[in-house]
Amino acid sequence: MGACSKCGRPLLTGETALCPACKAAKHETGGKWLKALATIATVVGGVVITVVTRGKVRPKGR
Ligand SMILES: [Zn+2]
Repeated sequence: MGACSKCGRPLLTGETALCPACKAAKHETGGKWLKALATIATVVGGVVITVVTRGKVRPKGR
C-alpha cells in the first residue's frame, strides 16, 4: 500500500498511483484538452472548408 502520488492520501486496495479523486481530476484535465483540441479542430476545419470551397463549390441553401 502506498500513497497517492498527487495528494498523498493513502491508497486503498486496487488503487495504483492515484486516488480516485486525483484520477477524476486527471481525467477532467484530459477532457478539457480534448475539448480544446476539438474546438480548435472545428474552427480550423471550418476555415479550411471555407477557403477550399470558396470559388469551387457553394454549399446548397446558403
Ligand atoms: Zn490523490
